[in-house]
Amino acid sequence: MRHFNVAVLGAGGVGKSALTIRYFRDDFVSSYDPTIEEIYHKTIVIDGEVCTLEVMDSAGTEQFTTISEQYITSARGFLLVFSLAQEASLQEVRKLRDQIYRIKGPQAQSRVPIVVVGTKSDLTDEREVRRSTIARLSAEWNLPFYETSAKRNHNVEATFNDLFRQMYTR
Ligand code: GDP
Repeated sequence: MRHFNVAVLGAGGVGKSALTIRYFRDDFVSSYDPTIEEIYHKTIVIDGEVCTLEVMDSAGTEQFTTISEQYITSARGFLLVFSLAQEASLQEVRKLRDQIYRIKGPQAQSRVPIVVVGTKSDLTDEREVRRSTIARLSAEWNLPFYETSAKRNHNVEATFNDLFRQMYTR
């Protein structure tokens, strides 16, 4: 049986918990304690093979950088999360990507499964991140981006499935 170990990383308040809880419990939480660090488990089938998932929803605290070192070392795949309603949260994704490649060492760019997730797509009036920015960064970083809404359950399943498929094939 294959086992996939994933860390969900990103700035505080971007919607990491809401995204993870939507995927694992099909529920939307409008407020969730940001200091809680939770591990979720699930079994899925890919190409007829049973795979177990372990997903760590990281807590965005002030000691974020030290905590994420530890997450990065132990996880094999990553969801890097930013909010479509907060352009600045993309900077954290850039830093995390650099940090992952540094910690995972040579050839990490072609080996480490990563999906970048823009959250809160339902907040159309508050949107700050343009489609053109996403297209540019996706090409520059050579990573898939998804626009999601945990509230409306938009693209959440597709985001996780893309990551698991990358993990399955690499
Ligand atoms: P975390 O700190 O990254 O885990 O962020 P949370 O999951 O706790 O979410 C932060 C806030 O954003 C909460 O008030 C959520 O209800 C809200 N939120 C998260 N995802 C969405 C979404 O898809 N749409 C909307 N409108 N709000 C969201």
